[in-house]
Amino acid sequence: MSTDLSKDIELIQLPSDQDSTGRDLGDDEMVKLAAAIESGTLTSTKGQFVKELETRFAKHLGVEHSYACSSGTAALHTAIAAIDPEPGDEIVTTSITDMGALTPILYQAAIPVFADVDPKTYNLTAESIEAALSPKTKAIMVTHLFGNPARMNEIMELARSRDIPVIEDCAQAFGATIDGKMIGTFGDIGCFSLQQGKHITTGEGGLVASDNADYARRMFLFINKAWGYGDAKPDHYFLALNYRMNELTGAVAVAQMEKLEEFVQRRTAIAAHLTEGLSGIPGLETPHVDSGFVHTYWKYCLQIDSDAFEGGLDEFAKQLRDRNIFCAPRYIQKPAFECQVIKDQRTFGDSRFPFTLARPEAVDYSRDKFPGTYAALASVLVLPLNEKYTSEHVKYVVDSIQSVAAGLQKAAS
Ligand SMILES: *Cc1c(COP(=O)(O)O)cnc(C)c1O
Repeated sequence: MSTDLSKDIELIQLPSDQDSTGRDLGDDEMVKLAAAIESGTLTSTKGQFVKELETRFAKHLGVEHSYACSSGTAALHTAIAAIDPEPGDEIVTTSITDMGALTPILYQAAIPVFADVDPKTYNLTAESIEAALSPKTKAIMVTHLFGNPARMNEIMELARSRDIPVIEDCAQAFGATIDGKMIGTFGDIGCFSLQQGKHITTGEGGLVASDNADYARRMFLFINKAWGYGDAKPDHYFLALNYRMNELTGAVAVAQMEKLEEFVQRRTAIAAHLTEGLSGIPGLETPHVDSGFVHTYWKYCLQIDSDAFEGGLDEFAKQLRDRNIFCAPRYIQKPAFECQVIKDQRTFGDSRFPFTLARPEAVDYSRDKFPGTYAALASVLVLPLNEKYTSEHVKYVVDSIQSVAAGLQKAAS
C-alpha cells in the first residue's frame, strides 16, 4: 500500500448542503417568512406565497401549470395519481433512484418495473425502457440522475409511438436542459424536490409542472384531498391526500427561486473546473455529458476502475473521506429492488398488494437483467458539489483526488 499522503496536506472543510456553510438562506428568506407570519394566513388555500411560487415556477419552466406540495415524494405521488393507473398497471422506471420515487407507485397500487441504466450516465435509455414495456405499461418515469439529463428526445419518441405518458423526476436536475429546452418539459409531468440537499431548498417541499390541463386538474385535486375548491358544487371527487405546501415554506421557496439560476450557473461552472482538473487520470473518468445537454450537477460523479487502483473504489473513497471529502461509493448501497419493501413485498399488512397483481416477469429482478445497473453502482464515486465552493475548494478537491489516484495507482502491467 502506498504512503499516506493525507498527512502532508492541510485539511480544509468544504461547504455542506446540510447546514449554513453550503446553503444560502438569509435575509431574503427572513423578510418573506416574516410577511407570511404577520399575515396570519399560513394555509396555501388562502395565502399568497404558495400561489406566487407556483406562478413563478411555471414561468421558469415555461409551462402552463405548476403546483407546490409537501415533498418530492408527494410530487411524484401526485403525478402518478394524475395518470391514474388501474391496480396492477405497470410503471417503468429506474432502480438507481431515491425510494421516494418508487413507493408512490405502490401506494397507487401500480407495479414498478425496472429498466436497466446506461452505465456511463446512470440514466434510463429508450432501448432499456423499450425492453421493459408490456401491454400493462401505464406510464414511464424517467429520473435525470445527479442532474444529468436522460436522452429525452429518443425516450419521448418511443413513448409517443406507444401513447404512454412520461413523468420526469427532476428532483436532482433543476435548470438542466437539452438543446436549450428545460428538463421537466419533455414529458407530460415534471416533478421537483425542495429537500435540504437539492439545488434550492425549504428543508422539505415539492413541485409538479405540466402543460396538460387534465393532468394539472387532477394534480391540483390530489394535493387538496380531491376537494373541488372554487367549483359550483364541490365534493371530494376521488381518493386523495392533503399534500399541500404551507405558506411558511412557500415564502422561503419564493426567495430561493430567485437564486435558482445563479446556483445552477455556479454549479455548472464549478463542475467544469473539476472536470478540467481531473481529466486524463488513468482509471478515472469524469462525467459523461451528451453534446447539447446541460448537466446541473446535484452531485459530481467519477467513474473509478477498481482494477486500476490498490484497494479499488472503496479504498479510493476512504482516502478522500480522510481528507474531509465526504464522497459516497455506489450512491445507493444497492439497486432499489434489493430493498426489503420491494424484494420482500412489504406493503399493506401481510397482503403483499399490489405485487399480488404483478406479472412474474415484472418482478423478476435477476442480476443478468441489469448489467448496466450493477456496472454503474460498482464504479460510481459520488462527490459532493456545492455552489459555495471557492476556487480554493475546487483546487483542494482536484489536488486531493489527484494525490489519492497517484498514491493508489497500480503499476502499468
Ligand atoms: C430527493 C429525491 C426524491 C424525493 O424527494 P423528497 O423531497 O426527498 O421526498 C425523489 N427522486 C429523486 C431522484 C430524488 O433525488
